[in-house]
Amino acid sequence: MVGAGVAGRVLALRLLDDGWSVTVFDRGEPDGRHSCSWAAAGMIAPNCEREAAEPEIERMGLVALDRWPAILAALDAPVRFRQDGSLVVAHPRDRQELLRLRGRLRDGALADGTARDVDAAAIAELEPELERRFAHGLYMTREAYLDNRQALPALASALTSRGADVRFRTPVQAVRPHEVDGERFDLVFDCRGLEAQPELPRLRGVRGELLVVMAPDVHLRRSVRMMHPRYPIYIVPRDDQGYIIGATAIESEDAGPVSVRGAMELLSAAYALHPGFAEARILHLVTHCRPAFPDNRPRILTRPGLMRINGLYRHGWLLAPVFAETAAALAQDRTPPGPVGPLVEEDAA
Ligand SMILES: Cc1cc2nc3c(=O)[nH]c(=O)nc-3n(C[C@H](O)[C@H](O)[C@H](O)COP(=O)(O)OP(=O)(O)OC[C@H]3O[C@@H](n4cnc5c(N)ncnc54)[C@H](O)[C@@H]3O)c2cc1C
Repeated sequence: MVGAGVAGRVLALRLLDDGWSVTVFDRGEPDGRHSCSWAAAGMIAPNCEREAAEPEIERMGLVALDRWPAILAALDAPVRFRQDGSLVVAHPRDRQELLRLRGRLRDGALADGTARDVDAAAIAELEPELERRFAHGLYMTREAYLDNRQALPALASALTSRGADVRFRTPVQAVRPHEVDGERFDLVFDCRGLEAQPELPRLRGVRGELLVVMAPDVHLRRSVRMMHPRYPIYIVPRDDQGYIIGATAIESEDAGPVSVRGAMELLSAAYALHPGFAEARILHLVTHCRPAFPDNRPRILTRPGLMRINGLYRHGWLLAPVFAETAAALAQDRTPPGPVGPLVEEDAA
């Protein structure tokens, strides 16, 4: 396995469960702080992501959502995982955005209770501090979030304790079928994210910026999205009065520091959602580039002796469990489980 972001770590665990001997190479540290996976907000939000994503992301995400509790429960260290749904709101002038998302949800999402229309009273019940601020919203009842910065080291230590040969601080130069820098393997998995670009020239980076704040005057219980035609944001609670405010999506591979514009847009949208953010303290400004194919659809690319899992774009945490299941099944020449699976293509690179 080359690359230990969320895709590589979850797949490596899955391969260990299937009885493989697994070697993991990563140029970074066990806490993963260099990776795109570390920069993320940790939302497991298949319904909300329909805002921009294809229907298959919602379908696969719903399957993956059910997998996360068992993955996390089997780790040695606790990882904060909350599954009490997400609330989506919009100011009255932006209500069209809410209706657009509602119209894009999978058939049956409203009928089976996965998504619910909520009015001012229901919003106040879910999030008392948003009382009288929004008249309409959607409540995605099954959605969750996890603390990705706790999850990365916990996944790394589970790999080691279950017997994987884990080599952090090991940059790899050559990823080839059956071979990593001259060392032979039955099968090589390439999970290098954006850094696989030399072999996957179609891959591009999409810059994302987010802020981590401490906001003692804000008491949101669950992740909240505010729809807006230009500045949609989400707020994800963290421990100790912490909140993530995210995220921009800019067609650029510049992973340099957060821009003034990005910070202003995120902060003013957060303030428009909840004035308690005015006194929040900014703890971190985070930027990374999401790995994406031109159609933004993640893929497994296969050839004998080599499998590449990439293009997870905005959905690496959401989708890692289903990509791991499918890649592990393909590794054993098994039919991938379930009718809803990732796109698998022959690797023409
Ligand atoms: C601001 C932001 C917010 C996001 N929020 C969410 C969210 O809420 N939910 C969600 O599902 N997704 C979210 N995402 C998307 C998610 O972060 C990505 O889809 C995911 O991290 C991609 O994971 P990966 O494992 O493919 O790549 P990465 O996390 O980038 O991992 C690749 C790994 O490969 C290693 N590597 C690369 N080259 C080499 C080499 N030559 N030798 C050795 N090792 C190498 C790197 O060190 C790295 O550890 C967000 C992204 C951003 C930027």
